[in-house]
Amino acid sequence: MNAPTKTDMIAEGKAKLIYNTTDPDCVIFYFKDDATAFNAQKKGTIESKGILNNKISALFFKELKERGVENHFIEQLSEREMLVRKLEIIPVETVTRNIVAGSLQKRTGKPEGFELPNAIVEYYYKDDGLGDPMINDEHILTFGWAKREELDVIHERALQVNEFLKAYMGERGILLVDFKLEFGRTKTGEVLLGDEICPDTCRFWDAKTRKKLDKDRFRQDLGDVEAAYQEIASRVGA
Ligand code: UDP
Repeated sequence: MNAPTKTDMIAEGKAKLIYNTTDPDCVIFYFKDDATAFNAQKKGTIESKGILNNKISALFFKELKERGVENHFIEQLSEREMLVRKLEIIPVETVTRNIVAGSLQKRTGKPEGFELPNAIVEYYYKDDGLGDPMINDEHILTFGWAKREELDVIHERALQVNEFLKAYMGERGILLVDFKLEFGRTKTGEVLLGDEICPDTCRFWDAKTRKKLDKDRFRQDLGDVEAAYQEIASRVGA
């Protein structure tokens, strides 16, 4: 069967364009090289980032599916395009953390690199205008952003992805510091993991040298940004 083809563009995100397709249940992601940080206050491009993020995300989604962690991925269509199930996005992002960095460092005063005794799942309200503020499950339920059963699925999936990704990267000499996930509902109301999983949305450190191999190289002007994304792609075999 031929894959559905692109029709009209329905959304332009910071890193992707999203298109409707000839199949009403599917959309196509087009991965751009544009990079933003600090709620889009810092803007730039990372050469070939879209190509690398597309293939890294495709590989992670495939591996997750094989391990029973359902997600929106259908197939990689081209260098920059991925076919996925169409989801009604739930406006709650999870950040799962194993090691202190970024906003957790700021919030707790713990040093970057402090290893948590157990993984933590945090929730953020997906709203660029508000700068994606951190929220808790009571906010989510009270404002109706997700139902209790949906939140339970989201929490469980966030931990399942962590178990998979931590081990998978660990075997390849990479520490999984933290990562962001997004979820959505299918037409029938099933909650599925969506969006992308790549060095834009995860913190990856080389296990030996602790060198940052993710978007922090762009955020913090550390240089060698493209090389870091390339390094992740080659370590995971994408
Ligand atoms: N993250 C993301 N999108 C966001 C905010 C965070 O993908 O809008 C990812 C980020 O790359 C990191 C993790 O979520 O892997 C935790 O980010 P943190 O809360 O520390 O915020 P940051 O320091 O990135 O502002």
